[in-house]
Amino acid sequence: MKIGFIGLGAMGLPMSLVLRKAGHHVVGFTRTPSRVADAGVTDFAIASTAAAAAENSEVVITMLPDGPDVETVVGGPEGLLSATRRRRLWIDMSTIAPSTARTLANLATEAGYRCLDAPVSGGISGAQNGSLSIMVGGPLDVFAEARPMLETLGSRVVRIGDSGAGQVAKACNQMIVAASLLSVAEALVLGQRAGVDAAKIREALLGGFASSRVLEVHGKRMLEHDFAPGFRLRLHQKDLGIAVRLGAEVGASVMMATVAGSIMNAAAAHGLGDADHSAIAIIIESLAATQLEPLEA
Ligand code: NAD
Repeated sequence: MKIGFIGLGAMGLPMSLVLRKAGHHVVGFTRTPSRVADAGVTDFAIASTAAAAAENSEVVITMLPDGPDVETVVGGPEGLLSATRRRRLWIDMSTIAPSTARTLANLATEAGYRCLDAPVSGGISGAQNGSLSIMVGGPLDVFAEARPMLETLGSRVVRIGDSGAGQVAKACNQMIVAASLLSVAEALVLGQRAGVDAAKIREALLGGFASSRVLEVHGKRMLEHDFAPGFRLRLHQKDLGIAVRLGAEVGASVMMATVAGSIMNAAAAHGLGDADHSAIAIIIESLAATQLEPLEA
């Protein structure tokens, strides 16, 4: 297939390379093309505008930071809606608010696109290995058409429901991950304040009921103070804002997301917005006037 891939960042670049490796013809567009060269990829076809990337493609994928970025790429000057040939598939894999996803899908559908929201979980390693979990919202027939290509990018591809439903599932995902990050940070810091080796606590807990990917991957990062992104904290902060607003819209308690979001706000104010989201541990450490010790060799 001919694919226009818009947003070649931490996730978009490895995802587009996976599609290329699977035999698709990919043309990219991104605001920061220097990042593609910096990543050592020198043979990537980059279009001059989003519309140009879409023009000769059967499928357009967007993987952008936030709702306003997707709004610009869709409706802005030289955006997808200004492309002349529009009878194509548009899949937005960014994490944005469900209401924005529905509004943009309606606009694009009126303009002739077939649309899905398909946010992902699984991080950069999932993007590199084609093992993402993909949460899809949109019409059944459009999902059926896109499914083989999505299965190149993900090992789990689930249609959640109609337009926006994929973004609702992703907000739920981010609530659970944030609460887990906070619990792991608090547990490790508490253990250390109690005079116990926090690395040993993690080691033991990984074999029991409290085991999780967050304890495994991010617990290690917290102990080693390895906060190179990864998933940038400011993106998770944005996602918790989405979850908290969704909770208010539909009338559901989102207490954990609210607390985790507040701590991420504080972390961002401490200059940690571009660190990995596991850096919320730094705020928990400072509340307890403690710093986690490095892992034993
Ligand atoms: P990123 O900031 O690394 O990459 C975003 C890319 O979009 C950048 O290259 C930027 O130049 C480009 N961009 C921004 N605005 C643009 C515009 N108007 N036109 C063209 N290009 C534009 O972000 P990321 O980590 O790749 O995340 C992308 C999305 O995926 C976000 O919504 C994020 O929440 C979500 N996500 C990220 C991860 C992760 O581990 N990084 C995991 C799951 C989901």
